Amino acid sequence: MGKVYLTGAGPGDIELLTLKALRVIKEADVIIYDRLANPDILEEAKNGCEFVYVGKEDGRHIVPQDDINEVIYQNALKHENIVRLKGGDPFVFGRGGEEALYLYERGIKFEVIPGITSAISAPAYAGIPVTHRGVSVSFRVVTGHESPNKKESQIPWETFKTDDTIVFLMGLHNLPKISKKLVEIGKPLSYPCAVISRGTTVHQSVVVGTLEDIVEKTKDVPTPALIVVGKVVELREQLNWFGDNV
Ligand code: SAH
Repeated sequence: MGKVYLTGAGPGDIELLTLKALRVIKEADVIIYDRLANPDILEEAKNGCEFVYVGKEDGRHIVPQDDINEVIYQNALKHENIVRLKGGDPFVFGRGGEEALYLYERGIKFEVIPGITSAISAPAYAGIPVTHRGVSVSFRVVTGHESPNKKESQIPWETFKTDDTIVFLMGLHNLPKISKKLVEIGKPLSYPCAVISRGTTVHQSVVVGTLEDIVEKTKDVPTPALIVVGKVVELREQLNWFGDNV
């Protein structure tokens, strides 16, 4: 029986991979990877390493999660070093916890290698610090996958009234509902927000707007994309070091 490395691939820029992730990738007998993991990383694998694609698009699984769990497990029975490579950080909306539990229940050894999550790095490449003294004392990373209109929502919308930063992942298709909901709880229509698409890559694009116009401005934005809501967005005017389409 082998060991599974639940490994964060980082947000896109290949240089944001950790040294530890790079080491296990080089030693891997098999790499099971998602669409969100930069495929250039696979070139670091040794000769003879097997690659298994279990594509996943914006939270929607092409391969159902149960099947992915089983694929990882079956590979752990066959190989010594198994890398489960996931975009960003494996425990930030990556269902890494579920995969780890599945392995735990079957007595398979695993290790978690955190990755740089898109939730902070895409804003950083857009010139938006998620916290800033005097502007935002905290930030939250929230699923945008759940419709804000859902009854018995688990998302504490009422607590989003402050100026603390909110980052929505998997939220582009729900953006009309999310922006409406934030206005309903009391944020002004002029409240700043941004949508960052393909963050940290050469294809990065950033649209800055307000809760009123962000939907209109982001109709054709490609995925993956995340939404940043908060006054920190205004800092981009001075801090945009990376630029669009570098
Ligand atoms: N584990 C990942 C998140 C998985 S959920 C992480 O830590 O980054 C998938 C969502 O992440 C996407 O819908 C999108 O909102 C966001 N995302 C991932 N990579 C991104 C990128 N390069 N730019 C912008 N958003 C990204």
